[in-house]
Amino acid sequence: MNFSLTEEQKTLRESIVRFARNELNEDVVERDRTQTFRRDLWTKCGEMGILGLPIPEEYGGSGLDPFSTAIALEALGYGCGDAGLVFSISAHLLPCVVPIGMFGAEEQKRRLLPDLCGGKRIAANAMTGPGTGSDAFGMKKRAVRDGKGFRLTGTKMFCSNGPIADLAVVFAVTDPEKGYHGGITTFLVEKETEGFRASQKFEKMGLRTSPIGELVLENAFVSEDAVLGGVGGGAAVFAHSMDWERILLFATHVGTMERLLEKAVEYARTRTQFGQPIGKFQAVAHKIADMKVRLEAARLLVYRSAWKLGEKKSVSMDASITKLFVSESLLETALDTVQVLGGYGFMTEYEVERALRDAIGSTIYSGTSEMQRNIIARWLGL
Ligand SMILES: Cc1cc2nc3c(=O)[nH]c(=O)nc-3n(C[C@H](O)[C@H](O)[C@H](O)COP(=O)(O)OP(=O)(O)OC[C@H]3O[C@@H](n4cnc5c(N)ncnc54)[C@H](O)[C@@H]3O)c2cc1C
Repeated sequence: MNFSLTEEQKTLRESIVRFARNELNEDVVERDRTQTFRRDLWTKCGEMGILGLPIPEEYGGSGLDPFSTAIALEALGYGCGDAGLVFSISAHLLPCVVPIGMFGAEEQKRRLLPDLCGGKRIAANAMTGPGTGSDAFGMKKRAVRDGKGFRLTGTKMFCSNGPIADLAVVFAVTDPEKGYHGGITTFLVEKETEGFRASQKFEKMGLRTSPIGELVLENAFVSEDAVLGGVGGGAAVFAHSMDWERILLFATHVGTMERLLEKAVEYARTRTQFGQPIGKFQAVAHKIADMKVRLEAARLLVYRSAWKLGEKKSVSMDASITKLFVSESLLETALDTVQVLGGYGFMTEYEVERALRDAIGSTIYSGTSEMQRNIIARWLGL
């Protein structure tokens, strides 16, 4: 394992940081206040190649390996102050575009990927049900065979990008008797499908520029062409999506942690109390030293897991460890940054209270911290 960046990866990182700072950071405080998703910025991210980073160029992607994708997403999290936009991009790319690239039939890939990678269409992943979150495979949503297709009925909760999605990657039960192994199927449901609609949009604590809501299917008919990864193949699609999401969405958070660390260091060097910079007080300096330790450990976990993903090694436990550690580190780092900035940290214009609100969801989405600990314990035979 050699994690020193190649010249190409360094250039990739620099170009994404520059792009994010120059193009994506205007009016973020106001956007957060008004919960505004900026479609024009999405289009720019598509043109920059960010919406299809690991997808082969022949389908409109940037053709990066998982490790380079981690570098690019870390750079995005570092350069872009709008964590909601970064989250929407991750929710589109990792559990939607990536599984279409992996499991899609040639026709599906040719038809869907260029517009998804290019920023013309937005995707949402629809797994969580009203009564089934952590117990994702306890889902009730049914897909019943009807001639040359299926009829889908049920509601999906907390779908990131749901209110603005052109396409949803929907998981439904096709064979209740088989359950998790062979009983769940993934469907690509397009916005125009009769009986499919975005319903309630939720207001939320953080990531407020990333729209989230319910998706409802009422006897919606989809043809066999809408099945992703074969009938009964939903568990494999979900597991693959989670491996990518739990590693690469959390690469963006490594970038955010670095930005917060720099902010804390800068403030601790320049803010004086009792006649000296607050960074000279051990209580403040140690807090910031701990931020640095968490950042470096988080980055190593993301890099190692992304490298393993590229080597096609089994990464499920690594993905859970990465997700758990990075999310809890991000949350602690955001909280500590607010504390280091004192009263100013509590004020909106300093942009760290938003980082704290944005960070809280990270221990919930992609499987809660408790579920990651359960998964790790299971891998240890407990
Ligand atoms: C910002 C955000 C974005 C999201 N985006 C999406 C999306 O795009 N698509 C999608 O499908 N879903 C999405 N979700 C939903 C997310 O995956 C679920 O919220 C999450 O899996 C938890 O499910 P739940 O909310 O039903 O909580 P529950 O499963 O009801 O859990 C409640 C509490 O009980 C604990 N708990 C539950 N079971 C156990 C157990 N066996 N052992 C120990 N503790 C347990 C949990 O850890 C949690 O603390 C999103 C959520 C958030 C917050």
